[in-house]
Amino acid sequence: MLYYQEPYRKEVEVKILKREGNRYLLSDTILYPGGGGQPADRGYAICSNGKFEMRHMGNLWHEIGGDCRDEKIKIILDWEYRYYLMRSHTAEHAFFRILENEGARMGKVALGEISSIIFEGDVSLEDIMEAERKVRNMIKEGRKVRAFWIDKKEVRNYPQLRIKIERIKDDRIRIVEIEDHDLSACKGVHVRNLSEIEDFCVVGVRLGKKKEVKFVVGEMAREKHFEYSQKLRKLMWERNQSMDSIESYIGNLERENVELNEFAKRISNVVDFQIEQCGELKIYSLYLPFGDYKVLQRRAMEIANQEDAVIFYGLGEKSVVCVAYNSRYQWVKDEFLKLLRMRGGRGGGKGNFVSGSDRDPESFVQEAKKIICDKLIQLDGGENGAH
Ligand SMILES: [Zn+2]
Repeated sequence: MLYYQEPYRKEVEVKILKREGNRYLLSDTILYPGGGGQPADRGYAICSNGKFEMRHMGNLWHEIGGDCRDEKIKIILDWEYRYYLMRSHTAEHAFFRILENEGARMGKVALGEISSIIFEGDVSLEDIMEAERKVRNMIKEGRKVRAFWIDKKEVRNYPQLRIKIERIKDDRIRIVEIEDHDLSACKGVHVRNLSEIEDFCVVGVRLGKKKEVKFVVGEMAREKHFEYSQKLRKLMWERNQSMDSIESYIGNLERENVELNEFAKRISNVVDFQIEQCGELKIYSLYLPFGDYKVLQRRAMEIANQEDAVIFYGLGEKSVVCVAYNSRYQWVKDEFLKLLRMRGGRGGGKGNFVSGSDRDPESFVQEAKKIICDKLIQLDGGENGAH
C-alpha cells in the first residue's frame, strides 16, 4: 500500500478496477483506512465530472461520494489532518513505552486533535510528568523512526517488542521502531523522525478507577505549555508569591482549608439555634458565615422529627439556605421555594428538608421566619373563622 511505502505522499493517480454502487476497488491508495487508534484518512477523488469526498474502507475498496465513470482517478489526501495524526501516533509510541516501563498496560488509544490513552497499572503523576519530559527531549534529539515487516515466527527475536500477539491474525507483523527507545507492533502511519512532532504536551490526566492521559502535539502543544505556564505565573504573582514557592504556597492553603473545615464542623455541632415561638410552632433559626452543611442538616432534621418545629439556617460562605420542618408543616416547602425564587435563587429537596442558593443567607433566614409565622397565623385565623 502506498500509505506505507510513501507515507508523505499527498496525491496519486490510480486505476478503478471494479465498481459496486458507490464503492470502488482501486489499484492502490494513499488513504489509511483507520485502525490501531488512528482514524481513517479524509480524502478527495478527482474525477472528470467533479471532486468528491472519499475514504478507504479497507482492502482497497473506497467509498466515493459521487459518480466517477473514469478509468483512472486522482486521490488527494487531507494532508494537514493526516500529518497531525501521524505525529500524534508516533508521540503516543514514544510516550507510552516510557509508561509501560513503569508498569502501565495499554487499554485503548484514540488519536485526534486531542488524543487519549486509556490504560491500566500503577503509574504515578510523577511518572507521567517525567515521561512527558523525556518525550520532549527525544523530539529535540531527533530520534529516527522506521517501520519494517517480519514473519510472526520471528517475534521471539524481538524480546523488547510491544505486541498483543493474540490479537494478530496475519502471518506478517509490522514493527515500528523509535531509535534506541521502542519497538512496537503497529499498522498505523508514523513520521520518520521524532523532530517532526515539534512539541508534546499532556493536557489531561485521570488516575482514578479509570486511568487516562490526554495529549496534543505540534504547535498546539507549544501553545498549551505556554498557556498553562502563563496561567500559573499570573495566579502566583497576583498574590505576591514567587514561582519558587508554589508548592509550599498551595500546601499551606490546603492545610489551612482542612483546619477550617474541622473548625466549621466543631462550631456547627455546638452552636445554638435561636428559638422563637409562633403560636404552637417553634421556629429555630441560625446563620453562620462559615459552617458544615451536613452537620447542620443532621441537627435540623433531628429537631424537626422530634418537635412541632421549623428550622431555618444559612451558610454565608456557601451562599446556601436550608429548611427542615416537622411533617405537619409540608406547606413550608412551597413558601420556602417561593421566597427563594423571588430573591433570584433556586433550590429543591426531598423528605422534610429543602435547600437552595441565595446571595444573602442571613437576611433570607430573617425574611423566611417572618413569612412562615405570618402564614401560620393566617391559617389559624382561617380555621378559627370557620368555627
Ligand atoms: Zn503506531
